[in-house]
Amino acid sequence: MQITPDKFAQAFEDEVMRSFATSLRSATPDQQFVALANMVKRYNAKDWAATKQAYDQPTRKQVYYFSIEFLPGRFLGDYLLNLGLLDTAREALTQLGLNLEDVLAVEVDPGLGNGGLGRLASAFMDAMAAVGMAGNGNGLRYRYGLFQQDFVNGYQVELPDDWLRNGYVWETRKENRAVSVKFGGWVELQPVRQGYLQARYHDTEDVLAVPYDVPMIGYRNGVVNTLRLWQAEVPTTSMMTGTQREEITDITRGLYPDDSTEEGRRLRLRQEYFLVSAGIQSIVRNYRRTHVDLFDFAKHVAIHINDTHPAVAVAELMRILLDDAHMSWQQAWSITVQTLSYTNHTLLQEALEKWSIPLFASLLPRIYQIIQEIDRRFREKYVPLRGEAFVNRIAPLGDGQVRMAYLAVLGSHAINGVAKLHTTLLESSVLRDWYQLFPERFSNQTNGITPRRWIQTADQPLSDLLDQTIGDAWRTNPLALRSLHQYQDDDAFLTALNQTKHANKQHLAAMIQHSLGLVVDPNAIFDVQIKRLHAYKRQLLNVLGLIDRYQRLKAGEDLGVKRVHIFGAKAAPGYYYAKEIIKLINALADQINHDPSINQQLQIAFLPNYGVSMAEQIIPAADVSEQISLAGMEASGTSNMKLMAAGAVTLATLDGANIEIRDAVGPDAIVTFGLTADEVAAHQRQQDYDARALAASDPVLTRVLSALVDGSIPGIESVGRDIYDSLIRYNDDYFVLADFHAYQAAQKRIDLLYQEPLNWARMALASIAESGRFSADFTVQGYGNQIWSVAPTHPLVKDDDV
Ligand SMILES: *Cc1c(COP(=O)(O)O)cnc(C)c1O
Repeated sequence: MQITPDKFAQAFEDEVMRSFATSLRSATPDQQFVALANMVKRYNAKDWAATKQAYDQPTRKQVYYFSIEFLPGRFLGDYLLNLGLLDTAREALTQLGLNLEDVLAVEVDPGLGNGGLGRLASAFMDAMAAVGMAGNGNGLRYRYGLFQQDFVNGYQVELPDDWLRNGYVWETRKENRAVSVKFGGWVELQPVRQGYLQARYHDTEDVLAVPYDVPMIGYRNGVVNTLRLWQAEVPTTSMMTGTQREEITDITRGLYPDDSTEEGRRLRLRQEYFLVSAGIQSIVRNYRRTHVDLFDFAKHVAIHINDTHPAVAVAELMRILLDDAHMSWQQAWSITVQTLSYTNHTLLQEALEKWSIPLFASLLPRIYQIIQEIDRRFREKYVPLRGEAFVNRIAPLGDGQVRMAYLAVLGSHAINGVAKLHTTLLESSVLRDWYQLFPERFSNQTNGITPRRWIQTADQPLSDLLDQTIGDAWRTNPLALRSLHQYQDDDAFLTALNQTKHANKQHLAAMIQHSLGLVVDPNAIFDVQIKRLHAYKRQLLNVLGLIDRYQRLKAGEDLGVKRVHIFGAKAAPGYYYAKEIIKLINALADQINHDPSINQQLQIAFLPNYGVSMAEQIIPAADVSEQISLAGMEASGTSNMKLMAAGAVTLATLDGANIEIRDAVGPDAIVTFGLTADEVAAHQRQQDYDARALAASDPVLTRVLSALVDGSIPGIESVGRDIYDSLIRYNDDYFVLADFHAYQAAQKRIDLLYQEPLNWARMALASIAESGRFSADFTVQGYGNQIWSVAPTHPLVKDDDV
């Protein structure tokens, strides 16, 4: 987009007048935001229409990415960037006496996701547009997001996330594209011709699925993809009671509040089928508009299942091909498998979704019939080859349950994990039998992030420094960041890098003061752990380290550096233990932050309501990136990638993508510690870990642990006891105590390294320089290449040997 700041300013004033019949001077910040967004929508409309038209060419292959969550964050800043208007808009608003950042801050974060899974889906949407892949998102338009987190007396309280209250400027309701999703009822199979049964559905509950489309603007390439969000509505013609109506609107009322363990049952299954059925019906309808018949469907359509939540897609596509398109089972199955692919996101057994057969069969009778037939044919083919026991272990139906992960693997031509270690562990543990059966279906696609959002938009000071130092090629190809290596002994550059970090830390310090009333020193180490609160992510290890550090400071030890430990984390409302950890962190923060005797050598800032927009403020200011999950538990992680791109030094266990980060930056530019995944597995196998004995024989651990129960941290009576018990009585499932000393030694190394600013900057430089390979642009190209057979129109070229 070419437009001068003057013209932009004029267009902005006009837009405010047109949209709100008010002058810019008397417009509210909300109105200013909406006016800017309207301008972006207008600038973008033609490209969006043209992109859709191009994708409708019968020879073009399209990807449909199904995810129960998306976590996009704000759009306006990124859209301006992608249209090439960010600097223009900033200048124009300055001319008008406004600050663009203030206007951008008005935008609400959509409440459509919980954490890493949803954020990845959104990064992929951004990346597919950037490289010009025909990528469509399919998700749900939740009325309420997770929850707004607040702390009262240190405890998490959950307030409704009413994110749609003032409407959502980026969406377009597409009533003419609505479809009907059927639940319940019963199925009649009528013989219509030799050997063929026509399914007729009776007494179904029909739910209207109305799509809302959100544009996904590519980076300076004219591509605009679509994220389609489905809303459940009562069909206009139906006679229903209030309760029945509510049951329907409940389907998209709220986001399920956990992204790694599964608890809620019936409603969740309704959500999943609603998403899948609406999405696939709409794909098939569109396909039929542009193609003669369905036989080449898999040549032109790739449907991706992001984790098991949309796995019922296997049976839904079969249903449509069998019941609506009247294909034979053979034909339908072959098309289904060639069309579908599946990403596994976790090794946790409890996160592999399973549904009790009575629940499943009553809610989705036809789908259940189809799964029975899939299961029957699977057994018929593989029992003679592999034996009964093997097949029983992995068949889609077993133990009275429908096993969604197994259905997904059986019905997909490609299955992937999200980091090298994770894929290896998938192949050797949870999906081991499947790997033996279909080794050719498995691949690894390491997660990625979008450097446009995390560096170009969120980290202006670093972006400017990079432009000045190595030119702006990195903005289109982040591998160009490697040319930073030539500055590793350039003291002027290293000093400038430290100065940008300092500026970002001042910014965050102001935010912390505003939010918590806590004054922190930008010269302190800003140590950051931001992610959902989970036992396996081990925020508790960080906390025990802090207790130890505090005790040492109280005892008069000189630790050489000041530290601020920054946390951001929501706990699922029903996850009692995670909430206890939140209370512990806040109680410790309260004590340490108010203890003048340690002279602010140590402070804790737990910022409430962590989300994408907050991450954009924290990440540029981070010195240390805490990635300390128990090895073998974190599938990939992506905050590790965002933080390295911002020049934070990674402090990590050898888990998920941390291993690939170490390989990228080299062992001297990262601090790793702790048990390896193999060592953890060996302890679990041999059952030889004894946390009580370990703690008892260790005076430091004894001293740290007793602080949980001896009253020395005010306000944690039962919480402290429960956490103590989890470690000692219940034998510390996540090996926190086993890794404690290694963790503290690693932190001590960080302390020493930080005291040599130029050396520290050299590590930061290595992190930034090697962060390019973790761009989601490469990740989606990997999927395109190895899984979807879809080529980008604006490929990002790996110009060397990544
Ligand atoms: C990146 C991101 C995550 C994922 O963080 P991990 O540390 O990889 O679990 C979660 N939430 C938000 C808001 C994010 O931006």
